[in-house]
Amino acid sequence: MSLPLEVPARQLIVQKFGGSSVADAAGIKRVAQRVVDTQRAGNEVVVVVSAMGDTTDELLDLSAQITDEAPAREMDMLLSAGERISMALLAMAINKLGAKARSFTGSQAGMITDGIHGKARIIDVDPHRVRTALDKGAIAIVAGFQGVSRESHDITTLGRGGSDTTAVALAAALDADVCEIYTDVDGVFTADPRVVPAAKKIDRISSEEMLELAASGAKILHLRCVEYARRFGVPLHVRSSFSQHEGTWVMPSPDDKITISEGVALEQPIISGVAHDRSEAKVTVVGVPDIPGKAAAIFQVIAKAHANVDMIVQNISTFGRGKTDISFTLPIVEGAEALTALKAAQDEIGFEDIEYNAEIGKLSLIGAGMRSNPGVSATFFQALSDAGININMISTSEIRISVVTRADLLDAAVRAIHSAFNLDADSEATVYGGTGR
Ligand code: ASP
Ligand code: MG
Repeated sequence: MSLPLEVPARQLIVQKFGGSSVADAAGIKRVAQRVVDTQRAGNEVVVVVSAMGDTTDELLDLSAQITDEAPAREMDMLLSAGERISMALLAMAINKLGAKARSFTGSQAGMITDGIHGKARIIDVDPHRVRTALDKGAIAIVAGFQGVSRESHDITTLGRGGSDTTAVALAAALDADVCEIYTDVDGVFTADPRVVPAAKKIDRISSEEMLELAASGAKILHLRCVEYARRFGVPLHVRSSFSQHEGTWVMPSPDDKITISEGVALEQPIISGVAHDRSEAKVTVVGVPDIPGKAAAIFQVIAKAHANVDMIVQNISTFGRGKTDISFTLPIVEGAEALTALKAAQDEIGFEDIEYNAEIGKLSLIGAGMRSNPGVSATFFQALSDAGININMISTSEIRISVVTRADLLDAAVRAIHSAFNLDADSEATVYGGTGR
């Protein structure tokens, strides 16, 4: 069975290599060879690179040794340097192999963003310099994760993991045939193979399910990259830079039906996978007056602090007391700012206290087949109960069930759910390297 996308004609291919693929000189040379092979097979190639290995974390550590109040503008100047190192070294390695390469910073590649340092959004892409380089027969290499603010002309970064989004944005702007995301595992798995060795590679997944997986903490693809790909109809191919295996195709068809060449819709598995997330904390606002407008006031404060709220639970109000508790989760990194903002608004909103717990983990089960298959939640909660895992919060969508548990029980919970839905493979998944970031 062949995918309609595998047309032998000349293609424009965007290839994105993550930090673990370009972790050292040997990795860069290996990537260079792969890129050159792709061009020599008759394709136009644009490459997006992440910073080498854990460079971004190292730069963050370095700045923390100097100050804990780094100006956001300078932080972006610092962090954007990581990707620039990779792009220049890769261009050199490609030159050495006898092919032409031109590297570009995000700004030079026309990645125009808003001015929110550290999590800038792409508002326009003008890749004319990239296009010109391709027209001259060169391989264009673009530094991922960065852009330039339209207003201030300062350098911005797109948020951790943002190179995926750079790649998709370029693929959309250049009308590429495919955006290949190279990583250190063979594709998208039914769970993180580092936690569940029996996880299975998924061959094809709808962008809808991939969105839920990414939003639920699967680190294989940046959420914004999947949103962008879906919106602009860019097919994504997630695969390993350490093997030649076919990876996972994320298909952006708007009706989410994955079709094969004959136009026949494939039967979708009920469950596509399990995702987990340790990056969130739980905030409980205690003793909130149970009258209209209070939830709005709380979440306005949180929004102004630029925090992304995930799960929300409001408890039933204690009888006769007129007060309720509202709990929600948000990224740990956004916790401090959100708490400060909430405390400042305590008197005005009139709640009694705030509790904060970062020792939580979130597990999500995702599958488009949940819509039409009753009994999924029963199996899910039974599996957690059999594993002796207590649940702190629950939330659902049409195709997802998520629960919050104690952080130290999360791995066991993920394995229990993975087995309960018969997702376990007979053999162990290969993890080629890296940290899974
Ligand atoms: N280097 C950045 C990070 O580690 C961006 C990326 O890898 O996509 O978050
Ligand atoms: Mg990285």
